[in-house]
Amino acid sequence: MKPDLSGEGNPFQGGSGQPPPALTIIVPCYNEEEVLPAASSALKSLLQDLIAERLVAEESRILFIDDGSRDRTWSLIAQLARGDRLLSGLKLSGNRGHQNAVLAGILTAPGDLTITIDADLQDDLGAIRGMIEANREGADIVYGVRGARDSDTQFKRLTAEGYYRLLHALGVDIIFNHADYRLMSRRAVEALREFGEVNLFLRGIIPQLGFRTAKVEYDRKPRLAGESKYPLRRMLGLAIDGITSFSTRPLRWISIAGLVISALSFLLAAWALVSHSLNFAVPGWASTVIPLYFLGGIQLLSIGVIGEYIGKIYMESKRRPRFIVEETLNFERHRMDSNR
Ligand code: UDP
Ligand code: MG
Repeated sequence: MKPDLSGEGNPFQGGSGQPPPALTIIVPCYNEEEVLPAASSALKSLLQDLIAERLVAEESRILFIDDGSRDRTWSLIAQLARGDRLLSGLKLSGNRGHQNAVLAGILTAPGDLTITIDADLQDDLGAIRGMIEANREGADIVYGVRGARDSDTQFKRLTAEGYYRLLHALGVDIIFNHADYRLMSRRAVEALREFGEVNLFLRGIIPQLGFRTAKVEYDRKPRLAGESKYPLRRMLGLAIDGITSFSTRPLRWISIAGLVISALSFLLAAWALVSHSLNFAVPGWASTVIPLYFLGGIQLLSIGVIGEYIGKIYMESKRRPRFIVEETLNFERHRMDSNR
């Protein structure tokens, strides 16, 4: 299938003499009424500069994705976008989570390039220039990578680091300190479209696309206003999804643990026989109760892990749409379908 590229020439090569690429800046928003006006004006003035410098085409725009917010987010987007051709909006029919909101933006956005950024502007806008520059030099995917994480709590930094290490040990190729702040070219987006998983973990999938990639470093700032929409519970959910979507090694570990433990039990039985025949066996409470708890725990954990994978198969097998568009403002969708 031939991607529908707007503009002439090859937008991926950059260089002089090429028309500048049309950029869509995608901003997922969930209950972000407090930050929207400030975020919108900061993004807009940046985009105006980029257009004036002919780094991006005039038809570039900012696309706010309302992820089923319960506050005034959508009406604010509508108000901002009214009569402003740089701003556009897409309203999802319900809250589908950050990953799906980002995906909805990427898969429906028109133009040659997309950049995804959070509404709270924790990710430094300055990196966008670097991303466009790297794209002009030939990168199809440019990762925004956090340098200093001073604004994050010690707990968040430690858990994030531990998680990256765990994923690495599990064989998942993931970019260290990269969240979902990134640039993608049209052909990278078209490749992503082929991944039809319902439960998408973008940070794990995108490195699998291949293409030329680059990294741009930036400092992460505190949230502009409002509070994090990612409490510990949702972080944990995303973390587990990230593991089970990309690695079946935990299942292998369970099998190995099972093998080792059953081998141990043979040794224990042998020891019991020996101690009994030599008459120094102590009628032990600990030796009965400890293994009981130990094995019970391991078994529950194993069943839980297996259940995670079965649940994943169940969810995937239904092939439900990943997002449903309720309304759009100021923009023509690149494609109408949500799932492929
Ligand atoms: N977000 C979303 N849907 C959700 C939760 C969050 O679209 O269900 C958006 C949110 O509006 C923000 C981005 O995802 O633009 C990141 O969320 P947040 O800043 O709360 O997460 P944190 O930076 O604390 O990890
Ligand atoms: Mg944030």
